[in-house]
Amino acid sequence: MATAPIDWRARAAELRFDGRAVIAGQRVAAQSGETFDCISPLDGRVLTSVARGRSADIDAAVASARAAFEDRRWSGQAPAARKKVLIRFAEKILAAGPELALLETLDMGKPIQYSMAVDVRSTANCIAWYGEAIDKVYDEIAPTAASALALITREPMGVIGAVVPWNYPMIMAAWKLGPALATGNSVVLKPSEKSPLTALRLAELALEAGLPEGVFNVVPGYGHEAGEALALHMDVDAIGFTGSTRVGRKMLEYAGRSNLKRVYNELGGKSAFVVFDDVGDVSRAAKTAAGSLFFNAGESCNAPSRVFVHAAIADEFTAIIQAEAPKYAPGDPLGGTAEIGALVDDTQMQTVLGYIAAGHSEGATLLTGGQRTMQATGGFYVEPTVFAGVNNSMKIAREEIFGPVMSVIRFETEAEAIAMANDSAYGLQASVWSDNINRAHRMARSLRAGTVHVNQYDEDDITVPFGGFKQSGNGRDKSLHAFDKYTELKTTWIRIDAR
Ligand code: NAD
Repeated sequence: MATAPIDWRARAAELRFDGRAVIAGQRVAAQSGETFDCISPLDGRVLTSVARGRSADIDAAVASARAAFEDRRWSGQAPAARKKVLIRFAEKILAAGPELALLETLDMGKPIQYSMAVDVRSTANCIAWYGEAIDKVYDEIAPTAASALALITREPMGVIGAVVPWNYPMIMAAWKLGPALATGNSVVLKPSEKSPLTALRLAELALEAGLPEGVFNVVPGYGHEAGEALALHMDVDAIGFTGSTRVGRKMLEYAGRSNLKRVYNELGGKSAFVVFDDVGDVSRAAKTAAGSLFFNAGESCNAPSRVFVHAAIADEFTAIIQAEAPKYAPGDPLGGTAEIGALVDDTQMQTVLGYIAAGHSEGATLLTGGQRTMQATGGFYVEPTVFAGVNNSMKIAREEIFGPVMSVIRFETEAEAIAMANDSAYGLQASVWSDNINRAHRMARSLRAGTVHVNQYDEDDITVPFGGFKQSGNGRDKSLHAFDKYTELKTTWIRIDAR
């Protein structure tokens, strides 16, 4: 029997918001009593008010996280016990899926069907995966002489500060929470001030799942207030940061000015998508470029925003892109059919429109899009936009736009493609399209990026590391490698006397 489609607007009208922080297992207002407005990009209206955390609130959250760590209420539990709680947490996320999806969509603008199918599911999967993994990883014994035993073990670090962006608010939080909690740490999470609502709900669900109080705290607030206080805190052992390269630099400074806490930066990108004239299916390449860039309205760190096309197929390729882009026209994020929704806020929309203006003034050719749209809603929507005739030194080819804007750049030779693709401050992801296996392997080795895709772009999984070369960051989220970020290695030498 077919189920009736969900009436998301009706559900949204019934939604209850609670913008208070979660500290030591309790919902609390900011100590100052201050709040900030949480505005929905769907229509520019205030959704609710949210606690404006500052250093006093961060101090309280870090103290609660530290107390939980020191009395070992979580870190002292057997891995199999932590596994059970994390799997229950993941089940609760799925059970609360429609509510979480609505909060995400109303708060940051993405289409509701993707909030459900991508954000809720990936978040639950990430938490469950690290829960599943933690009682299956072993420590090491070194190959020493018989007179000694050397154990190499991993210990949780202590208190982890997680600072995350607004483009995939729950998923980015889960990429920190999964490995940090599984390994026994306590966490203080500072969500983006542009999208704080789901993080607060996640903390409640974790408590319901049996995570002890104080192990996972959430302090909403502005970056220069709550975020800075967390990163400067003397009792935070590591910062797991995802966000812009500009703020990533500050994170390193804060660590230097405070306790030299570990800083793991997952930063911006300007990913190259390189299409050769020996690609078997030009249409598939072009459609994949469009789909991968315009997904999430281009607000993805790994969006392939620089598309390099061999001159011999450039006209054919750009004609397909030009026809494809309007299929990603923004629509009502609660309607259930729009491919892209609203940009996160007015500021981000003005930034994107500013880059479009720069594309015009630098002499790129606008193929499609380029305008704000759906103004009558009061929300922040921009058309999918494609520039051709771009060269790699233009501003739109060098800077991360973080919006639905593609730059198409022609090349003639493989060497030129490699040089231009690598001529970027960033190195998050790249893609190469060719039916020549030797060229595909050569390119995969030559491209300076944390992930290289061959003849595809969308493959992704919690089992593989995610992160970048160069100014795209250090450390890796996802996969078992993420355990490295939240554990200290300890060597224990034991003398064994001869009989
Ligand atoms: P942002 O750097 O402006 O903000 C990220 C977080 O840092 C927010 O919580 C913000 O409040 C906080 N912050 C801001 N200023 C701060 C300060 N002075 N001190 C401490 N914290 C501060 O980034 P954004 O606009 O929220 O997100 C977009 C960026 O995130 C893009 O550059 C994108 O590429 C990047 N990103 C990277 C990845 C990855 O895995 N590499 C994934 C998603 C997004």
